[in-house]
Amino acid sequence: MMVLLRRRDDLVCQQVVELVSDYLEGALPRSERKRFERHLRACPNCTAYLEQMRVTIATAGRLTPDDLSPEAREEFTDLFRSWRADGPGAPD
Ligand SMILES: [Zn+2]
Repeated sequence: MMVLLRRRDDLVCQQVVELVSDYLEGALPRSERKRFERHLRACPNCTAYLEQMRVTIATAGRLTPDDLSPEAREEFTDLFRSWRADGPGAPD
């Protein structure tokens, strides 16, 4: 059986994607925000994603998950799958 070494309170990329609009709206509680930012420091992929969302919101004014086309969502899902596949899985 495969065991993933991850602290229980660490966010995974998928969670970051789900939280990103709340984060940008300042809607995250402080503790969530800290976990979010800690993930970002360790994850250039999510940092890039956040930047992209920031630009999207600046352009569109606001963002809801519905603003992402199904194609775009599909694209991100694939992206995250590939990140996980060769992601930082090495034990430390
Ligand atoms: Zn990430």
